[in-house]
Amino acid sequence: MKLLGIELSAVKALIFDMDGTLYENPDYYRFQENSQVERLAGFLGISAKEAAERLGAARQARRSAGLPPTSMANHFLALGADMPSVIRWREEALTPGEWLTPDPRLDTTLGLLAGRFRLALLTNNPRSVGLASLQALGVAPRFEQVIGLDDTAKSKPSIEPFEIVCRSLRLPFGVCVSIGDRRDVDIEPALRLGMGGILVRSVREVYELPALFGLSV
Ligand SMILES: [Mg+2]
Repeated sequence: MKLLGIELSAVKALIFDMDGTLYENPDYYRFQENSQVERLAGFLGISAKEAAERLGAARQARRSAGLPPTSMANHFLALGADMPSVIRWREEALTPGEWLTPDPRLDTTLGLLAGRFRLALLTNNPRSVGLASLQALGVAPRFEQVIGLDDTAKSKPSIEPFEIVCRSLRLPFGVCVSIGDRRDVDIEPALRLGMGGILVRSVREVYELPALFGLSV
């Protein structure tokens, strides 16, 4: 785990991804995808199985074309959904409080980081789901900004979410670091804008961030 793109001494803000970064819960990941595939199926008038197959085929097509992975929202748009529906389906189906529990070690970690840096959440779920996730993890007070899918109607890896989070912090790209578990979605777009990036494999590496920045645990 290392900081890419900018120098440690330049960092003023840390911009965290949520899913796969601030918690690990494979059952919830599956529920998120399955619940949204069901909504897509209803919208398109096809079975959930058919919708899942179309999503799988779209992902495979990108791999076959040598393209990097993209967000599920972008796949849904390509399969015929519209962004207001994608946002509403997530707001209706996702209840983070039923899946996530307080993580005191994460809160301690973020408390150390918040003593040095400004913290923001940048999620491909709607803002309300991001905020509810922070609350369920018991870390919401550590974050001064929560930016979600409904703030730009674009999802990472598009650059708009990264632009709006830096703008809302009133900071230039070169002092902001995107931290997430997906290189193509969370890190590469940030680096292209001149931000820093830290790829983490899971929340267990997030616990190590204070040490990376020389902050004592
Ligand atoms: Mg993630």
